[in-house]
Amino acid sequence: MTQAPLDWRLIPCLDDNYAVLLRDEATGTVALVDAPEEAPILKAVEETGWVPSLILITHHHHDHVGALDALKMAFGATATGPEAEAARIKGLDTTVGEGDRLMLGETALDVIATPGHTRGHIAYAGGGVLMAGDTLFALGCGRLFEDTPQAMWASLQKLRALPDDTLLFCGHEYTASNARYALHVDDGNDALVAYAGEIATKRARAEPTIPAPLGREKETNPFLRADEAVIARAMGLEPGTDPAQVFAALRKGKDTFR
Ligand code: ZN
Ligand code: FE
Repeated sequence: MTQAPLDWRLIPCLDDNYAVLLRDEATGTVALVDAPEEAPILKAVEETGWVPSLILITHHHHDHVGALDALKMAFGATATGPEAEAARIKGLDTTVGEGDRLMLGETALDVIATPGHTRGHIAYAGGGVLMAGDTLFALGCGRLFEDTPQAMWASLQKLRALPDDTLLFCGHEYTASNARYALHVDDGNDALVAYAGEIATKRARAEPTIPAPLGREKETNPFLRADEAVIARAMGLEPGTDPAQVFAALRKGKDTFR
């Protein structure tokens, strides 16, 4: 089934978080993805007139749920989030998990379990967008706070299977820092060099680098390419090494990279 792409509005919150409003064109139904901070979200809703009836949560970290109660009250919205983190998130009305499908008006959003950053983290995909939370960032991926490199690599492979023209939305503006590490790992990648140049230009103008086309991430984001020989070699590993092991080395390298 093809459906019209969702309209969206990106909302910078806190220091470097993003919340997103998604709007189904056919019905005017709106969802808010994550709830980092009240004031900028209220302002964006006022400016757009897009009042969310649904709030979708990706994971339990405070910078994604801190304003949930206040925003539910402000909009009279219901909240949905990861069933595996229900006990850790106050204010969820319903919970969802792998394989569940939500309807935003006439647009279907599929729930994808993406353990790694947190154990119960979920992503939402459909209507031409991927709401990846802190699992997949433009040119990077989330830190492994609650799960193994194996789990995170499996999660990233699921996101990588989505169509190239999917727009990737993530929880943070970390792209410039991620680009420096990506270039450190893979400086022979012309597509990456060009992408990093565009990111530097955008950030110099204080513009967001989000959303990012997923197809471009598949070519340039080292964390989506742990099964490619060039990335294994960059980690000092033999091509053919278990990609989860390559991924673990990549993630560890980023943790200490300056
Ligand atoms: Zn987080
Ligand atoms: Fe976060």
